[in-house]
Amino acid sequence: MAPIQSSSCLSRKCWIDAEQTYLSQIGLNKMHTAKTAQIRTASTGMIGRARPEIVQMKGYSSARSLAGDEAGLVYLDANECAYEPFVGARNLARYSAQQPTELQRAFCDWLDVSSRNLTITRGADEAIDCLIRGFCEPGADNIVICPPTFAMYAQSAMLQSVEVRHAPLTADFGLDPTAIAMAMDEATKLVFVCSPNNPTGNVMNAGAIANLCVACDGRALVVVDETYIEYAGEGGEAGSLIPALEQFANLVILRTLSKSHAAAGIRCGCAVAAADITGVMQKVLAPYPVPQPVMSAALTILETGNQQRLAAKRAEVIVRRDDVITALGEIEGIIRVWPSDANFVLVEALDAAALCQRAREGGVVLRNQSHQHGVGEAVRISIGSAEEMARLLAALRGETIASAEQNRQHEIVRKTSETAISVAVNLDRAGPISIDTGIGFYDHMLDQIAKHAGFALTLECEGDLEIDPHHSIEDCAIALGQAIRGALGDKRGIGRYGFCLPMDEALVTVALDLSGRFHLDFKADFPQPMVGDLPCDMVGHVFRSLAENMQANLHIAVTGENCHHMVEACFKGFGRALRQAIRQDGSEMPSTKGTL
Ligand SMILES: *Cc1c(COP(=O)(O)O)cnc(C)c1O
Repeated sequence: MAPIQSSSCLSRKCWIDAEQTYLSQIGLNKMHTAKTAQIRTASTGMIGRARPEIVQMKGYSSARSLAGDEAGLVYLDANECAYEPFVGARNLARYSAQQPTELQRAFCDWLDVSSRNLTITRGADEAIDCLIRGFCEPGADNIVICPPTFAMYAQSAMLQSVEVRHAPLTADFGLDPTAIAMAMDEATKLVFVCSPNNPTGNVMNAGAIANLCVACDGRALVVVDETYIEYAGEGGEAGSLIPALEQFANLVILRTLSKSHAAAGIRCGCAVAAADITGVMQKVLAPYPVPQPVMSAALTILETGNQQRLAAKRAEVIVRRDDVITALGEIEGIIRVWPSDANFVLVEALDAAALCQRAREGGVVLRNQSHQHGVGEAVRISIGSAEEMARLLAALRGETIASAEQNRQHEIVRKTSETAISVAVNLDRAGPISIDTGIGFYDHMLDQIAKHAGFALTLECEGDLEIDPHHSIEDCAIALGQAIRGALGDKRGIGRYGFCLPMDEALVTVALDLSGRFHLDFKADFPQPMVGDLPCDMVGHVFRSLAENMQANLHIAVTGENCHHMVEACFKGFGRALRQAIRQDGSEMPSTKGTL
């Protein structure tokens, strides 16, 4: 193994200085340092295994790579237009750097690595491609994969005329060091290990990967694809092998925002490796792989608050996954469900195609994996939302459920500088209901609406509660109103009108008409300023926002003595009125005008 310089004798300042010197030697002028991990992997010896013509070539010098992407300079070096095209995103007129500084910093903070060890790519897929193109001579070299595994390793190799050799996993889907050793020869440049593995879902033993790194030292890179690592083990990321980069010069780790950070659509991931490997990858990488909108989305995703939110979401997925594993175990035609460290599960079926077909008839699409080596009749199932999993299970149990197209559902995603909200309603399902606005009492009230109106509601809001609950309360009502309005569609067959409800001493009258026209009449004299953490003067606002965005005519009058009763009666009464109004019975248009 190539000796790795120890940094323990250096103070942090000395270390950073040494890094800067090294970077200027290799022609990179900026660096973001890791918070704790100090990956000193300047020279690995592995560079000798890269394609010599790539090592020798200079690499394309874009205007941006020569001048950097510093703010405040006048850039007349890339024939860009100095005006914005106005499509609603920022900085579209300019090329972005190959590795935009701001995004590097965010990735470095996220993964606790230095920018010299990082290559940001269009998803992990592109990192795979860059490694193959940078290291494997077409027609001469080969890679080793461990099937059953992710298909893109072989795809990318074949596109490059690089031979793909197989070292199958063992019967319990572990690495087989003997098979890998047998598959390798002088021309093997890369060994791909997927952990957690797609499609089997299991994490590979870290000791086995370490042994593999030692066995491949000086010969081949060991590429560990950690696309799903955040779902593995207690608290997720504990299992990442990024810290092992200090130890193994030939280790490369792939990470991505696609599966763990709910961002498959932006195409953003990375490889983490020794700096000279990073250098090779960036020579074969396109000059501008990170479009501006991708960069701004990725920066938002990687903000601390959002990371925490996503971590909480992943924890929910893990709980749901484990429930789904139990439930799937009882489905007819499923022989077994493999344990999973990822956000999907692999099931062995009597007949994989028939299982997929059964799900498809209920409107759910699964992935048949029977073509994969060693899995038999197997189907891979992603862990979706609670509602989606309920739908899948119902379909697999053969329960008749309305098809997705027949359901009146609608989703709204709304983001302003004050709040970020996502709402999904399904008027034809009584649940699940999941509400998180950050305002406990308001959650309770919105729950009343959904429960009493009898529809499924998922509502989540990240708002500026540190300022005031006002924005969150109002914006949630707006978004919910829009979602209900959207789900109602052309309103054919609905009850349209809706109610009157007592709650102890409180009495509320709610009259509702989903007329397409907005009017609110709200009569309430609340005896206290707050109920729980909900300001009472917001209650009228909420109904205004709801009515306005649902385009409804809404009259609410409430009397009583206890503020909690009065407020809750309003929400319950509204829910009940809504239940009558949204109920569908036939397809007649409930208006003599023929439209609503
Ligand atoms: C989905 C997947 C990828 C692709 O990730 P992107 O970042 O979206 O390109 C890579 N590796 C594995 C194992 C995957 O399942």
